[in-house]
Amino acid sequence: MTDFTATRAMFDLPEGVIYLDGNSLGPLPHAVPKRVEQTIRDEWGQMLITGWNKAGWMDLPARVGDRVGRLIGAPAGSVVMGDTLSIKVYQALASALELRLDRRVILSDTGNFPSDLYMADGLCRTLGPDYQLKTVAPADVENSIDESVAVLMITEVDYRTGRKHDMPRLIKRAHEAGALVVWDLAHSAGAIPVDLHGADTDFAVGCSYKYLNSGPGGPAFIYVAPRLADKVRPALSGWLGHEAPFAFDLDYRPGSGIDRMRVGTPSILQLAALDAALDVWEGVDMADLRARSLELQNTFITRVEAKCPDLMLASPREEAQRGSQVSFRHEHGYAIIQALIAEGVIGDFRAPDILRFGFTPLYLSLQDVALAADRLCAIMADGSWNWPEFHHRAKVT
Ligand SMILES: *Cc1c(COP(=O)(O)O)cnc(C)c1O
Repeated sequence: MTDFTATRAMFDLPEGVIYLDGNSLGPLPHAVPKRVEQTIRDEWGQMLITGWNKAGWMDLPARVGDRVGRLIGAPAGSVVMGDTLSIKVYQALASALELRLDRRVILSDTGNFPSDLYMADGLCRTLGPDYQLKTVAPADVENSIDESVAVLMITEVDYRTGRKHDMPRLIKRAHEAGALVVWDLAHSAGAIPVDLHGADTDFAVGCSYKYLNSGPGGPAFIYVAPRLADKVRPALSGWLGHEAPFAFDLDYRPGSGIDRMRVGTPSILQLAALDAALDVWEGVDMADLRARSLELQNTFITRVEAKCPDLMLASPREEAQRGSQVSFRHEHGYAIIQALIAEGVIGDFRAPDILRFGFTPLYLSLQDVALAADRLCAIMADGSWNWPEFHHRAKVT
């Protein structure tokens, strides 16, 4: 059994705070500051440019990619780190579309994160007027996959409601119709068990600053199925994806396998932070993580529904259909979350009316979750959420 008391001890959490927002920005693992300081002082400071070879900076995107790969069922050499998730969405989509030149439709759903849809739309405009992004309701995705679809682009877990798509089933359906799939694992990697290889995914992308705790702006990842990796043509053909970057050839030749999905100079400090943050996962069994996450979620739901009936559950009641977050609806959701944060419980708000809570077994206990539910219900009962200071909207919600 995974020892979650031990993993909790590996984090620096502020005193008195119950953190239910690790689905948006993971907290700081103890090991990170020391590692980043070492990278700055001993590597950058002392090695200067020789660090690219001596400290292994150039191999870091692939080495850390393999560590992330182990958490999502990706074989060694099929994941590489770099850029931000929006960029990786574009890159995966562009490569997938190029493998289906006879088709012109990207299919996605209205529960997808807007940036993924914006990137797809921008790519369609670049490719020409025949290309089209089609979005349907999440429940209609399966029945909308037909032979016009070039690429199915789906975020497995809905960022607002936590609703989880049936990944193996949709991949099977897409492949039967001759479409390729791009999966966004932003709310899956480190949150739920994922088996990319077993599910026969073509492409997957995700970020590291949510459940993987790499810190604000940490690098994204991209997975390409090994059977496709030497066939895809990168649309963002930067020099570090070239077969021989230091030959400085004038023509582009893609590097072998997943290396070709690299673009430019990797952010070494953030990669070092992520590398240290991933140590927390060493003894973690993903099935234990899932069981524990559901236990935390169910405790929270039961308690909130029993004590504050004004909040309507926005997440699926069926646990198999949930990721690792739970959301409730209320028209004054923004003010309620601000009042809750003032009470030391950090969740967040997503327009128009979603109160969102992330459940991360690595550092949350059942007592934390019960206490968080009690504080939420106390705010609802005494009306303190309605104080004027909780209605002021900040830039980031
Ligand atoms: C968090 C998130 C993003 C954010 O993209 P960035 O480029 O890292 O800012 C994109 N897509 C989904 C589905 C997300 O959840």
